[in-house]
Amino acid sequence: MERVFNFSAGPSSLPLEVLEKAAGELTCYKNSGMSVMEMSHRSKDYEEIIFKTNSMFYELMNIPDNYKVLFLQGGASTQFAMVPLNLYGKNMKADYVVTGQFAGKAQAEGSKFGEARIVASSKDKTFSYIPKLTAADFSKDADFAHITLNNTIYGTRYNYIPDTGSVPLVADISSCILSEKLDVSKFGLLYAGAQKNIGPAGLTVVIIREDLIGNPLSITPTMLDYSVHANNDSMYNTPPTYSIYMCGLILEWIKNLGGVDAIEKINIEKAGILYNYLDESKLFKGCAEKEDRSIMNATFVTGNPELDDKFVKEAKANGFVNIKGHRSVGGMRASIYNAMPIEGVKKLVEFMKKFEIENK
Ligand SMILES: *Cc1c(COP(=O)(O)O)cnc(C)c1O
Repeated sequence: MERVFNFSAGPSSLPLEVLEKAAGELTCYKNSGMSVMEMSHRSKDYEEIIFKTNSMFYELMNIPDNYKVLFLQGGASTQFAMVPLNLYGKNMKADYVVTGQFAGKAQAEGSKFGEARIVASSKDKTFSYIPKLTAADFSKDADFAHITLNNTIYGTRYNYIPDTGSVPLVADISSCILSEKLDVSKFGLLYAGAQKNIGPAGLTVVIIREDLIGNPLSITPTMLDYSVHANNDSMYNTPPTYSIYMCGLILEWIKNLGGVDAIEKINIEKAGILYNYLDESKLFKGCAEKEDRSIMNATFVTGNPELDDKFVKEAKANGFVNIKGHRSVGGMRASIYNAMPIEGVKKLVEFMKKFEIENK
C-alpha cells in the first residue's frame, strides 16, 4: 500500500528519508554487527549516538552552555509531576496558565505538592485563545511559572513569551519543539514528549538551566530527580535507546534542511496555505483566534457535526488520515508537524475545496 498523508496529532508522521535510513541500518548498524535495538547503552557505538544527539540539540536550538539536555521516559505527562517535585523551593508556590487540557493536567499535578495558582485560563472560550499576560500577572514569590507553548488539542500557540521577571519560566513544548526559533535563555526549563515532532514515542526531552537542578522535594523518587539523570548523562538506567537514535536521525534531517530557520519558514508557509483557505472558505471555519493560531495543529469545523463526520470519512478514503479532532472537542484537526511535506497540505486544501463545492 502507498503511504498516506498522516495528520495525526501524535505519534505522528516521520520524514520518509529518516524511516528509510533507519530501515537500511535496522539489522546492522554501521560496523557493529547488530541493530541499535540490540546494543548495550554502555557500548562505544551507542555512546556515540546518544552524545551526538545531545550535542545536536545544543547546536540546532542554540542552547546556552549553562543548560543540560536530558533524555528521559514517561512522556510529557511525567514532567507534569517532575517539574513541581524538583522546582518547588522555599515558597512552595507556582503559577500556572491554563490554556488547554494538558496545561490543566500540569496544574493538577502541581497542586499535589504545593500551591499551584491558576494565573489565567482561556477555558471561558473553549481554549480558543491565549491570554495576554504581563509581569504583573505573575507572583513575585512563585518558585516557577508554567505555560504550554503550543496547545495541541485546541490549535493555539503563544505568539509571545510571557515576562515572569526572575521567576523561572517552564514551558511544555511537546507539540512545537524545533518547529520554529525559540530563545531558550528566556526559560528555566523546557520539556517535550518526542512523538509529535522529533521522533517515536518513548523519549521525553528536558532542557533545564543548571541552577534549577539539585533541590528536589525530599519525597522525590530517585527516577524523578533531574540531578540523577544530569549526573549520569541520561544513563542512570537504560534510556529509550532506539527512540534516541531515531531522534538523532531526525535532528540530522532538520540540520540538512538548513536548521530551525529553514524548517520555520516551511512551517509558516504550510500553515499559511491551510489558514488562508480556511479564512476564505464559506464551509470551513478555523476554531482558534487568528493571532493565536498554532502553526503545528490547525483546528476547524463546518458547524455541522454530521458534515464534519462526512468530511473526515471522505478525507480518509482519499489518503488524508487522522484528521478528526480530539475526542473532547470534535470537528477536525490537521497536525502539520515538521515531517508533513508542503505537498501534503496543498493536496489537503485541494481536497477541502472540492468537498466545499460538493457540499454547498
Ligand atoms: C501530547 C502532549 C502531552 C502528553 O504527552 P505524553 O508524552 O503522552 O505524556 C502533553 N503536553 C502537550 C502539549 C502535548 O501535545
